Amino acid sequence: MVSRVKLREITATLASAGVFDPVFEAREILREYAGDAALMGGELTESALERIDDTVRRRITGEPLQYIFGQWEFYGYPFSVGEGVLIPRPETEMLVDIAADRLDSDSTVLDLCSGTGCIPISIALKTGARCYAVELYDKAFGFLERNIALNNAPVTALKADARDNSLFPGITFNAIFSNPPYLTDEEMSSLPREVAHEPETALAGGSDGLGFYRTLIPAWAPRLAPGGFIAVEIGETQGRAVSQIMSDSRLRPGVLKDPAGLDRVVMGEMTR
Ligand code: GLN
Repeated sequence: MVSRVKLREITATLASAGVFDPVFEAREILREYAGDAALMGGELTESALERIDDTVRRRITGEPLQYIFGQWEFYGYPFSVGEGVLIPRPETEMLVDIAADRLDSDSTVLDLCSGTGCIPISIALKTGARCYAVELYDKAFGFLERNIALNNAPVTALKADARDNSLFPGITFNAIFSNPPYLTDEEMSSLPREVAHEPETALAGGSDGLGFYRTLIPAWAPRLAPGGFIAVEIGETQGRAVSQIMSDSRLRPGVLKDPAGLDRVVMGEMTR
């Protein structure tokens, strides 16, 4: 079958199944199994066609494309993903940009609730900082370890509860990052069907979504090195509340917007 014809067919199938961006996903599917050249036309092999059709069949049941591919890109680096771990999202790259601006190979960095490890691995590779990562759940921790190896990144991973601020004794951190679960109960009750495939433990932040910030920020602020900061990803309505939590821990807060213009990160800097 000719690739351009197949592309139109996939796009139409995804669209009628209610996929949010069928044009983008159809192109990603074609590219994944037949390479960039298939976007320019030409005949598809039998095996490429089979894999494409299999992917489309799974995708229209709501399974996220990233889980079907088993790998997804974040900050230009490859990450192994699948059932049991949150898929890296482009807005989270803001945390790596902050690290790239402010940290270097002399820095020591902690990431809490690491999941795939997209944050600490990208920061370690981009800045050369010594990075530590904490993840509690078995499956997610498996992905974290696999991704450290996949990227050959200088990251130390610990399977532990991020609320335990006695981890890594004797070390102080120039920066602490986290993209914790932050969805509210109300948001959890109306998840897009793709997001519903992702682990609840990576999404649900308690009734108002702020539970992890209330616990993690006061617990870890005392572990900052002089001049250090904490930077967390937030839901777009949480800027004010998380800023207050930072202030209560004597960190000077600032809210940063994502490329879509929504509040996405709160950074709290140590004041002396
Ligand atoms: N950004 C994710 C979403 O929109 C939520 C991730 C999180 O809770 N940290 O589903």
